[in-house]
Amino acid sequence: MTSDTSLQNLANNPSCMDDYDPNAMHVAKAREFIWQFLNPVSTVETLALRDSLGRVLATDITSPANVPNYDNSAMDGYALKGSDIATSRLKVIGTAFAGRAFDGTVHDGECVRIMTGAAMPAGTDTVVVQERTVADGEFINISEAPKPQANVRYAGEDLKLGQTVLAQGHLMRPADLGLIASLGIAEVQAYRKLKVAFFSTGDELVSIGQPLSIGQVYDSNRYTLFGMLTRLGVEIIDMGAIADDPILLEATLLNAAQQADVVITSGGVSVGEADYMKQLLTKHGQVMFWKVSMKPGRPLAYGKVGNAHYFGLPGNPVAVMVTFYQFVRDALLRLMGQSTPVPLPMFQVQCTQAIKKLTGRTEFQRGLLFTDADGVWRVKPTGAQGSALLSSMSLANCFIVLDDTVGNLEAGATVQVQVLDGII
Ligand code: AMP
Ligand code: MG
Repeated sequence: MTSDTSLQNLANNPSCMDDYDPNAMHVAKAREFIWQFLNPVSTVETLALRDSLGRVLATDITSPANVPNYDNSAMDGYALKGSDIATSRLKVIGTAFAGRAFDGTVHDGECVRIMTGAAMPAGTDTVVVQERTVADGEFINISEAPKPQANVRYAGEDLKLGQTVLAQGHLMRPADLGLIASLGIAEVQAYRKLKVAFFSTGDELVSIGQPLSIGQVYDSNRYTLFGMLTRLGVEIIDMGAIADDPILLEATLLNAAQQADVVITSGGVSVGEADYMKQLLTKHGQVMFWKVSMKPGRPLAYGKVGNAHYFGLPGNPVAVMVTFYQFVRDALLRLMGQSTPVPLPMFQVQCTQAIKKLTGRTEFQRGLLFTDADGVWRVKPTGAQGSALLSSMSLANCFIVLDDTVGNLEAGATVQVQVLDGII
């Protein structure tokens, strides 16, 4: 099932699929569903190497040369012939610096003082480190014989000529910039930036800078979304906070879908509510509305409006962040061209506090990973866990992920965490 037609079928007739229950959607199942409809951007741009940070490579990068491209010393010491490794006294006939090679050839009984990174002089294949030698005028005495070919970095040891260094679909990170620079490559082919439009919905929302009356709240979702999207390096189109007015919402939705590859909204997707967003999305798109068996983040919508992918996130501020990290982030990386986006890594750690939890749904509690008095990393929840309490998220550096099978936990239980530092 890979076409829009099946999305349409599904949106119109959810019961057409076995084991598909929009009212009790498992987290993994929802993820799988979204995954099958993601078609990455295809426009390719040529970028100066530095500008490719955070972008996805559109072609393989192959090595145009061996790296390093000459045999060189891994240590400061003396370069000598392999046949001399057991010789305890050698004559020093010159010096090889990094960037300034020794011109001559080394013969039996001779050696060359050599610095780290300097090319191995002709005739040599072994370096004895400085600490194993004692200088004696024009000679050195070797206190401990080196092993054959010790302390030499060979041509092609890092990368071989013609080798695929980074594959198409790779998301560029700082090490990759350096790796490509080490090949002398100045420009790369990358996919264009993904355009993501977003808006908040709700009559109660007020933009920052305006006074607040009873019953109103400041629109914080557009700020967390701005932050999360900026970290992903996508192009952002902020369409504002839109009142629950069908005409305004319709105009904004269509405008967003026309401009962007992806439209994200928050609020107004609760299933069962007489809700304008749901009506509009049914009219203009192929959208599925789910009650995901998770907390927070139960109502969630995914589909297409025109050519744009659509994510309808819940209104509650913490739920917005949880659903973004659990569903939207991976999807955006895929749409950006990354071949196999890695979900946020998960690992196990001991939780120092008891946790109350119902079985039957996955919970994403906000946690703080910390080192205890013995220097061991442990986790504790960041206080009250209501889905409107953004402070719990702000204090957190991880999600404590409690599967649907998990119930109440005693202090000291092992839990799974997903680290957010450096990501959020
Ligand atoms: P909704 O999903 O529209 O029913 O909203 C659920 C809760 O989230 C309500 O308490 C809203 O006031 C709140 N909410 C919705 N959108 C935002 C927003 N952009 N910023 C802050 N709170 C919001
Ligand atoms: Mg609302």
